[in-house]
Amino acid sequence: MTRIELRRTRCAICDTEGNAREIYPATLSENDFTSSVFSARRRPDRIHYRIVRCNDCGLIRSDPVADCDLLNRLDTESHFDYEQETSNLAHTYGRALAGLSRFGMRHGSLLEIGCGNGFFLREALRQGMREVAGVEPSREAVAAARSDIRPRIHCGVMKPELFEPDAFDVVCLFQVFDHVPDPRGLLRECLRVLRPDGLLLAVNHNVRAVSSRLLRERSPIIDIEHTYFYDPWTMRRIAADSGFRVRATGSIWNTYSLEYLLKLLHLPGPLQAVAASGGPLRRLNLTVPLGNLYLVAQKGGS
Ligand SMILES: [Zn+2]
Repeated sequence: MTRIELRRTRCAICDTEGNAREIYPATLSENDFTSSVFSARRRPDRIHYRIVRCNDCGLIRSDPVADCDLLNRLDTESHFDYEQETSNLAHTYGRALAGLSRFGMRHGSLLEIGCGNGFFLREALRQGMREVAGVEPSREAVAAARSDIRPRIHCGVMKPELFEPDAFDVVCLFQVFDHVPDPRGLLRECLRVLRPDGLLLAVNHNVRAVSSRLLRERSPIIDIEHTYFYDPWTMRRIAADSGFRVRATGSIWNTYSLEYLLKLLHLPGPLQAVAASGGPLRRLNLTVPLGNLYLVAQKGGS
């Protein structure tokens, strides 16, 4: 059994170590951070690192974290109707993409970082985007892409040499940004590959959403997969500090099936059982503001 070393994290806005107040203690003790805990195909739900808030800028982060890439996304969705959820996500993100027209979006080329099986790239093509590209670390997800989309996906992580400068009109990050250990580095790379006036669209959790304030530590946001926990203010700040012109932030309405929502909300056992017996009701789609925010930021311009 290998012990996993934990490392301190820095505020991604102030670049300070320490200088933060603990909000929630870790749900695992230091001795629990062993490879056997993380090697299980299904790790226990709702575990998180120690969560702190920066004294200066208010950015919330995990600190310390495991210093290795053991936390690859696990396919906890496998028991859901994945097809239905990806079509709901394509709908949600598709609405956000269509909304970029008010910021002068060009329908030239689009890059999605963390594109999974490429369902959103298909949606972007459907909306008239001429070229799409994706980056996705999970080999399993890329293998599940449709044959017309798969060649457009690079299997790996976003790296500086991957794309030419000024290559894209739009770069999208859907539920990716709060997983990224070096968000400033990623934003600089997004800026580099965007054409002048190109747009960045990010959708991720909002740690100050009503749902997250109510659920507090029980919120699905407070999870070991997340290094940083943003709100509209810290999103604006980190994008501006990285050289972007911030155009808009706000909360996003997600379309979910009732079944997925109930899983997400982590209801107590008896309620899950009632929900599970709901039959066709579980397939009902609801559009709700469930704790996600969006950021639109532009390269250059005034
Ligand atoms: Zn800070």
